[in-house]
Amino acid sequence: VALIRAGLVGIGKVARDQHIPLLRASPHFELVACTSRNNRVDGVANFTTVEAMLAGGPGLDAVVVCSPPQVHYEAAKCALLAGKHVFMEKPPCATTAELGRLTELARVGKRTFFQTWHMRYAPRVSDAKRWLKGRKVLGARIVWKEDVRHWHPGQSWIFQAGGFGVFDPGINAISVLTKILPEPVFVESAEHFVPENCQAPIAANLVLRTDSGVKISAAFDFLYAGEAIWDIEVETDGGALKLSFAGAVLSIDGQRLEFPPHKDGAYAEYMQLYRRFAELIAAGESEIDATPFRLVADAFLAGKRTPVARFEE
Ligand code: NAP
Repeated sequence: VALIRAGLVGIGKVARDQHIPLLRASPHFELVACTSRNNRVDGVANFTTVEAMLAGGPGLDAVVVCSPPQVHYEAAKCALLAGKHVFMEKPPCATTAELGRLTELARVGKRTFFQTWHMRYAPRVSDAKRWLKGRKVLGARIVWKEDVRHWHPGQSWIFQAGGFGVFDPGINAISVLTKILPEPVFVESAEHFVPENCQAPIAANLVLRTDSGVKISAAFDFLYAGEAIWDIEVETDGGALKLSFAGAVLSIDGQRLEFPPHKDGAYAEYMQLYRRFAELIAAGESEIDATPFRLVADAFLAGKRTPVARFEE
């Protein structure tokens, strides 16, 4: 089977940590080009704009967008209009209408558009979903706390408008919650803590509720200096479930469930994402679930904004 020839847009942390090694190891894809304003990737054709990559690049089948969300739309639009399949990092775009338009362009152009939620592929997320099926949910809690200076060094876009602030990691928690819960979730209230010199929140507290009225609290914090906490807890009529370490560990009633190590090791999430992308291309389908994005947008709509001290990196 011919390899899918991919071009990568935005050479930053996630491109280096995940996409480049994965594309180089993948049995389905071949990394042939990159777009970067400041960086170069060895062994592929390098361009400084998406337009130049699409016009002058080696024949591409797919474009992988891993720049910040504020510039996702233009890159993905150009790629879809040029007849390429698109893999897009989370958070999807700067606005929900942009995601709607990309979905439509992919449909009309008969291209695959994969709006990814990488944490849904974390090792224990499907097990958690399976365990929750058929149990009655009584309550849930998200605690998502990390040190922005450690995890997002130099990423000034994160605190600019459209950068999502603490929801850049927080949307991962919501993507997992909305995958494992058997019921739809709504935003009931939200409070965003926004540094005086920033446009996006550095911390936020949300109250969500399921369609049957079960409350879910969510606390997001970017100024947490200890070891990161990425936990989701769900109380049910059949016990308490906890997903910790960003979906890597599953415990029931305080007992950690043991599983054999994943054969793809540290790259398991992105291996599966790329496998799924190849499957979607082969099937001529797209996969876009806007739910986590809509919930974060709703939290901005419904939320109150509390100014807090300046943030200096
Ligand atoms: P990053 O380190 O800041 O890299 C983003 C890259 O995008 C930059 O290095 C830059 O590369 C390019 N870019 C293009 N236009 C830009 C603009 N206007 N402002 C800033 N950069 C621009 O960020 P990242 O951590 O890789 O995250 C990128 C996306 O991936 C985000 O949506 C994030 O949520 C998602 N993500 C990140 C991780 C992670 O572990 N960091 C994990 C999963 C998903 P050039 O200078 O080369 O153009």
